[in-house]
Amino acid sequence: MADQKKMVAQITDMEEDFTQWYTDVCTKAELIAYSHIKGFMVIKPYGYALWENMQSLLDGRFKATGVQNVYMPLLIPESLLAKEGELVNGFAPEVAWVTAGGTEPLTERLAIRPTSETVFSDFYKDDVHSYRDLPRLYNQWCSVVRWEKETRPFLRSREFLWQEGHTIHATKEEAEERTQQMLNVYADFLAEDMAIPTIKGQKTEKEKFAGADATYTVEALMHDGRALQSGTSHFFGQKFSKAYGIQFTDRDNQLKYVWQTSWGVTTRMIGAMIMVHGDNRGLVIPPKIAPIQVDIIPIQQKKAGVLEAANRLASALSAFRVKVDDTEKTPGYKFAEQEMRGIPIRIEIGPRDIENGKCVIVRRDNGEKIEADIEDIEGTVKTVLATVQKDMLAKAQAQLDGMTYEARTPEEFRERFDNDKGDGFIKAMWCGDRACEDKIKEEYGVTSRCIPFHQENIAGTCVCCGKPAKKMVYWAKAY
Ligand SMILES: [Zn+2]
Repeated sequence: MADQKKMVAQITDMEEDFTQWYTDVCTKAELIAYSHIKGFMVIKPYGYALWENMQSLLDGRFKATGVQNVYMPLLIPESLLAKEGELVNGFAPEVAWVTAGGTEPLTERLAIRPTSETVFSDFYKDDVHSYRDLPRLYNQWCSVVRWEKETRPFLRSREFLWQEGHTIHATKEEAEERTQQMLNVYADFLAEDMAIPTIKGQKTEKEKFAGADATYTVEALMHDGRALQSGTSHFFGQKFSKAYGIQFTDRDNQLKYVWQTSWGVTTRMIGAMIMVHGDNRGLVIPPKIAPIQVDIIPIQQKKAGVLEAANRLASALSAFRVKVDDTEKTPGYKFAEQEMRGIPIRIEIGPRDIENGKCVIVRRDNGEKIEADIEDIEGTVKTVLATVQKDMLAKAQAQLDGMTYEARTPEEFRERFDNDKGDGFIKAMWCGDRACEDKIKEEYGVTSRCIPFHQENIAGTCVCCGKPAKKMVYWAKAY
């Protein structure tokens, strides 16, 4: 047990220092390593395997709605980026520029893509001519660069991995429907595959994406009570199509501008997974995205027949992502490592178990031990993994519900947020004025997370100014 304690002691308790706990988990569970450039990280094999699983599940969900993958250039000429003013102004402070090719200075500097609305628009303008060419439902998996000042692994880095979908449509209705559809894809993926419940809604004018007519978001709540924007879907109307000249001849023979959307999720979701499910022993990964789902740990592995039995168990479980830990480490150390890495279940198998035709399954999410027959191990593991997946979502939902409050007056609002803690979501009414939103942010460090689709009438008046309220808003301190 001594080395097990030693290993777990490497992680700071989350109650003591949540930020340090998070950093410890990222590095000790071997998800990332820091590089020589601030905000650029190495995603190690275990972290990358996690991303690959997420990517493949999401990609399947995209393709089921007719989306195709493409790849666009990394660099954007400044003149092209500048065509849509709002977008360029929104991103200007964060753009990284290429100014030379080898020893030759460039005549026009090139932006490293912070996002690709401009390149997609420039491409669509020549690629689309008729209503028969529509819709175009393209997505790309790539990395983008945004020169952030404060950086943290997965949550805010200067280079990050993501997908960006960019679609164009003949009608406004169709584009609006696509915007909602992709938001639902994100919410379903987060709930069903990552066991992360979210609040779906619309961003306020202040918080929406630069250049968008409307931005929709899925907002999750972390263990420390701070919100994390986990995915966004934007409706652009005809803003880009007019700036970039994307026109098509419609059925009525009229030349029209297309209607456009974009939507994206990033490696940030890994940060959400860590902070929603993790505990003081390390990561807790939902089975569907876990790089390793089952860790088989032989007990007294030097005794005759033990390793063989462990390997037989692994063969019987070949339908899952399974590993046998046959290293020289002690079982205690192996348990600690499996817990740190958040592997959903471990199976302990020793000489006495083998004699009885049994093994012991231990759940990472709640520590429950289940005695199982070696004979029907495949069916048992399948059931246990499905139960873990379901229970993790229920636990996270209870966590979110338990940290969601209401405020009717400025006093109630102040009481909850006037401290250094995250302290959850507050549902409160809002008059719709930017001034109130600004004031709330200034006084409490709290931002409007979204105007939820599911509206409730908590009070008749704005929580800030007391004027008649228009909408209920979720407010929170956010990452
Ligand atoms: Zn107000």
